[in-house]
This record gives sequence, structure tokens and C-alpha cells, in this order.
Amino acid sequence: MFKLENTDGFARAGKLKTEHGTIETPFFMPVATKGSVKHISFEELKQTGTQCIISNAFIFYLKPGLEIIEKAGGIHKFINWNQPMFTDSGGFQMLNPEFLIKIEEQGVHFRSPFDGIKHFMTPEKVMEIEETLGADIAMCLDDVPVHTSEPKRLKESVERTKSWAKRCKESHTEKKQLLFGIAQGGTIEKLRKQSVQDIVDLDFDGIALGGLCIGETRDKMNIAIQASMPLIPENKPRYLMGVGTPFDLVNTIGYGTDCFDSCFVTRSARHGLVFTQKGNLNILHSQYKNDLKPLDPECECFVCQNYSRAYIRHLKVLGEENGLKYLSYHDLFFVQKLMKETRISIQENRFEKFKTEFLKIYKKIEK
Ligand SMILES: [Zn+2]
Repeated sequence: MFKLENTDGFARAGKLKTEHGTIETPFFMPVATKGSVKHISFEELKQTGTQCIISNAFIFYLKPGLEIIEKAGGIHKFINWNQPMFTDSGGFQMLNPEFLIKIEEQGVHFRSPFDGIKHFMTPEKVMEIEETLGADIAMCLDDVPVHTSEPKRLKESVERTKSWAKRCKESHTEKKQLLFGIAQGGTIEKLRKQSVQDIVDLDFDGIALGGLCIGETRDKMNIAIQASMPLIPENKPRYLMGVGTPFDLVNTIGYGTDCFDSCFVTRSARHGLVFTQKGNLNILHSQYKNDLKPLDPECECFVCQNYSRAYIRHLKVLGEENGLKYLSYHDLFFVQKLMKETRISIQENRFEKFKTEFLKIYKKIEK
């Protein structure tokens, strides 16, 4: 299922086999929470080099509901995405007061922001939903605490995440679908390690680190990741949830992570942030008003082959839909190419040099 091809330091290049094809790792998944990546069609998404996407099972359960998806023959067919796909469980929605009512041992009470109707989600119910949707990889329901939580709450979340993971594992019966467990523990090293060990002991197909990149400092996040990696067996893919800045992708691959998802890339693109080989630029700055160069002169994406900074800035300033499309497309293309180049550098045992050179350019936190 997961084959490690080469390691360079702690960095890993591998292949993850799924029902809808093999994913080359490390890889980045754009977020298609509702079954679509904002401003980008799936045809365009494939052209960015995207191998895999992640949707949200809980959102699909609410809207449009499972009946029509079953009728369509599963989520892949319903949205017409024929490549690998994850579904997240809804655990992340616990951080959103629009959704969360309360968490208890048996499960979590949510309110649908669409119609106000209350839903009680147990690990068993979440597995049933994810199996019905039929994505290649399902995520367990975890208890996600806010990053400012007291140690007492983090400890409770670690215990509950373990018990829910066990229940997910026991109730997940669709063997064609891979199941990944999620570890919590915030940035308290001891709790993080305990949670990773709990999840590893349950022998999932992959191990995810959840509850990171949600507001804690980058240093704290990195310590939590580095503490976790040695506990995860080599043959399990390691999924760092919520991470997606070019800096963090390359930097944490250096700790041994394989898989990422984040809405950062497309969200920041919509705000005018452009990734280039020479670092970030913000297209809204007045200096680009008369700049007829492409977004990134070294990029071979269709946007950079056809349109100028000045034109895309003009579209963005006037709120034209195509401006948002071009920005999102270019930035996704940049990140997917970065993943490919990172993978090649690992295969060729020159990752450390690649990382050092890249992080020199991307050393500041992207805003
Ligand atoms: Zn481009």
C-alpha cells in the first residue's frame, strides 16, 4: 500500500497505492471541502499536477446528503474526480463555533450551518458516512482542541481521540478504503508523543498529525512534528494536516512528513499573494500596475505563458472572477511543482542542499 523508495536524511520519497491510482510522495492536496476547489475546475486542477484532493465527509453528509451520492455511485462519480481522494471526518469542524454545540464521550453534537438542524456524530456514524462516500482514504473522527487549550483539555482530547480511533477502526469494514488515524496532543511534547503512540498501536494504514498549524507558533509546531516522527513505523505514510506554505512543506518534509493538505495556497492566492522562484510578491502592490512580466518569469503554467502581472492585477482589483482563477491556478501549479522537485531531490540524495537553498528564499513567513 505504501512503498518507501528512498530516504535522504529524514526526508522520504515513496508511493501510496489507492483504488484510484498511485500517489507519488511527498504530495500536497488542495482542499475541496464541498467537492470543489475555489475558482479551479477539476480539469484545470489536474493540469496543475495535483494528484489527490481532500473533501469533507461531514459537509457532504449535510449537503447535498448521502442519498444522491449513493445514487451517483459514490463521491468520485458524483463530483467526477477520477484520481485519488481523501475525506476528512468533520473533527476539524469542532474548531468552528458555527458548527460545534458540544463534545461528549459518545460523540459530538453539531449544528448544520445550512439549516440549523442538530446532528450527533459518533465515530461509528462517521465511518458509515465515509464508507458510503467511498473516497480512497477515510480519516478517523478525532477530538480537536483549540491551540490555546489548557493541558487538562489537551489530555482529555488525547484520551478521547484514542477511544474514538479505536471505535473507528472497529466499525470500519470497507477494506478497499484505507483508514488513517489522527494524533492530537497540541504542542505539549509528552502528550503529542502519547497520542502518536496510541494511534500507531492501532495499526492504521497511515498516521496523521492533527491539531497543528491552527495558530500556534511555527517553532512549537516543528517541535511537535519532530517529536512524533520517530514513533511512526517507516512503512506508514505520515500526514501533516493543515500545512501548506511553501516554507513549511519543504521544511517539514525534512522531518519525515509525506502528505499535506491546506487551504492556505488557494486562500492566499485569492488575496493576491503570488509564489515565485524568487520568493513571494503581492500583486496588489502598486509597483505591479505597469509590470508586463508574467507572475513568475520562470514558471511554465498557462497563466504565466499568457498573462501579465499588470493584467492579472487589473482583474483582481476590479474583482473579476478570472483574476482569482489565474492567481489560484499559478500558486497551485507552483506548489505542485515544488513537491515534484522536492521528491526528485530526495530520490537523488540532494534534499538537504535543495531545502537550504529554497528556505533561504522562503525564510519569511508568508502573509
Ligand atoms: Zn505560473
